[in-house]
Amino acid sequence: QRTPLIAANWKMNGSAALVEEMTSALAGVATEQIQVLICPPATLLCRFTAPINFALGGQTLSHEVSGAFTGELSAALLIEAGASYVIVGHSERRSLNAESDQLIAAKLMRAVVSGLTPVLCVGETLQQRQQEKTQQVIARQLDAVYASQPELLAKSVIAYEPVWAIGTGESATPEQAQQTHAFIRQHLAQYDAKAAEKVKLLYGGSVNADNCAALFKQADIDGALVGGASLKAAEFAQICSSAK
Ligand code: 13P
Repeated sequence: QRTPLIAANWKMNGSAALVEEMTSALAGVATEQIQVLICPPATLLCRFTAPINFALGGQTLSHEVSGAFTGELSAALLIEAGASYVIVGHSERRSLNAESDQLIAAKLMRAVVSGLTPVLCVGETLQQRQQEKTQQVIARQLDAVYASQPELLAKSVIAYEPVWAIGTGESATPEQAQQTHAFIRQHLAQYDAKAAEKVKLLYGGSVNADNCAALFKQADIDGALVGGASLKAAEFAQICSSAK
């Protein structure tokens, strides 16, 4: 009942050439039963000019509407460039750009009121997992956004990205991911049981063509947020095809 969503996060990678390669690789993927999303660097959004069978998204946005915020990108600018989604609270922005839970909540609100679907990223570090704080950390990250604005849940996609699995080649096992996804869905039910049942929960962290099928089989895994493997057009197309 939840249509799978396979999302690419190119991070600070890619090129106009990759835009073309990806567009043609995905043209061969049947997208009746799945949704595909590409989040390239914002400067490449406008390069997707050919007819495309997937959605586009930004990798972050400003919580402000417009104004003197040099280097920032507003929701309206992203939309004008072709985006309908935006990643919010990626662990790299939480750690490298010191984005707080509060700022992330403000960004997510700005995305939704502007008409963008936010992909909220949550996940624990290796140290937090080893200290058995995974659920506590994720609950805090979710509560920061939805406790005061539960109506945003129905408009959100959530990605579980354990920090220790990002870019390491070490994916969470399907069982580990499913366990956390089930926790997330159950935790969200307190805000809106119906929305929690419907919300897409993506797994992210070293997803590739070899490990994706086992992840997609899990009951609460509704797709993936793919980093490194989304820079290889053929492999990403294969991941998309596995999600049916
Ligand atoms: P990798 O797939 O490279 O581990 O990156 C995951 C990620 O951070 C997607 O947002």
